[in-house]
Amino acid sequence: MSSYDFAIVGAGISGAALAYYLKKGGARRVLLLERGAPASGGTGKSAAIVRQHYSTTLMARLAKRSVDLFRAMPSELGHDGGYRRVGYVFLSAPDNAAAAQKNVEMQRKVGIDTSWSDAGTTASRFAWLNGDGVAGSAFEPDGGYADPVQSVEAYVEAFKRLGGEVRTRTPCRKLVRQGDRITGIVTDDGTIDAGMVVNAAGPWAPALARLAGATLEMRSIREQDTVWEGRAGRDLPAHSISNSVDAIYIRPQGDRRYVVGRGFPKHYEDVDENNYKETPDDAFIADVQARLELRIPPMQGARLVHAYTALYDVTPDWYPFVGPRADLQGYADFNGGSGHGFKIAPGIAEELAGWLLTGKAAEDYRQLSYDRIAQKRLFVQSYGGNRG
Ligand SMILES: Cc1cc2nc3c(=O)[nH]c(=O)nc-3n(C[C@H](O)[C@H](O)[C@H](O)COP(=O)(O)OP(=O)(O)OC[C@H]3O[C@@H](n4cnc5c(N)ncnc54)[C@H](O)[C@@H]3O)c2cc1C
Repeated sequence: MSSYDFAIVGAGISGAALAYYLKKGGARRVLLLERGAPASGGTGKSAAIVRQHYSTTLMARLAKRSVDLFRAMPSELGHDGGYRRVGYVFLSAPDNAAAAQKNVEMQRKVGIDTSWSDAGTTASRFAWLNGDGVAGSAFEPDGGYADPVQSVEAYVEAFKRLGGEVRTRTPCRKLVRQGDRITGIVTDDGTIDAGMVVNAAGPWAPALARLAGATLEMRSIREQDTVWEGRAGRDLPAHSISNSVDAIYIRPQGDRRYVVGRGFPKHYEDVDENNYKETPDDAFIADVQARLELRIPPMQGARLVHAYTALYDVTPDWYPFVGPRADLQGYADFNGGSGHGFKIAPGIAEELAGWLLTGKAAEDYRQLSYDRIAQKRLFVQSYGGNRG
């Protein structure tokens, strides 16, 4: 039997980033456990758009910090996480323009470099845009995207260099519970004692919690993404884009290629996380293509390169579950990214490491705990959607 101060289950962006910040913060024995390879869950297929366009100071602050951390990866972690500062555009529809403009004002107060443009300025600023129905736009020069696999690998390698232990191809079969305390995990090789177990298993986190008699109210959602290659010689977008007018997101991938998926509002497709249709739907591809060509006419005639599906976990209020719970000792959550969990994971992980190591966390951050379900302190009252 071996023993650790922290055992983290799941090496997606959440688990990998937390593992690194725990070691960096001085934790002694930290184990990162992954049943497949790092980033083999939703993270590996994430569109990985990086933006700070959020509607609460908590999320805007965490998103801003995450941008700083993505940017610093080559110097701090010794590896490039694939962050590309190509800029981010939020295209606003008439029904959300007032709220978006208010959010931009709040984000600026948090220190985010962002600005609002009215419809006329937006249309003249972006040569690729069909401005019909666009009420305005927000633009962040620091937004863009990252490479999700490279980001996870950068964290895992830096974690190992600090003395952290990674076990891949090692599923956690069970959490060991004694009374109101989780005391370890079970793998095929036996029981591992841990002072604290962190459930970072993404869509598989509720099943893991259930095995220890704990609840985790989340949905497993099937998400489809497509990759399109625009024609040479056209004026194609350089930025990552959330297009709320047509409910799609678009992010450059280099070589005239773009990842394109459906954004908010959209229908969530609940699936069994262990048995779902992994091939994309023809109707989805056709729908996304029509929305893309309408808004960005230079993408007309673009070639479909690839289409795929993946899973993400959605919480009742679209905010992640992060941190310890009052009724279960030796256990913490870091799951429920709700379709936007990649870009905020570094900032969340850094603060969570501080919380787990010192017992202290900012008051607004503590509300991310699963305790908010029992306390009926949800951030918003209904399910949101993927804004990319
Ligand atoms: C198609 C798609 C597009 C997206 N686009 C964006 C975007 O543009 N911007 C953004 O910010 N977010 C986006 N997201 C959301 C974001 O990618 C996720 O919120 C985030 O990557 C979740 O990371 P995670 O580490 O929490 O979970 P995951 O990446 O799912 O990792 C969980 C890990 O746990 C492992 N695991 C599970 N059970 C066990 C077990 N019992 N034992 C050991 N290991 C286990 C899994 O193998 C997996 O590697 C997108 C998601 C998808 C699917």
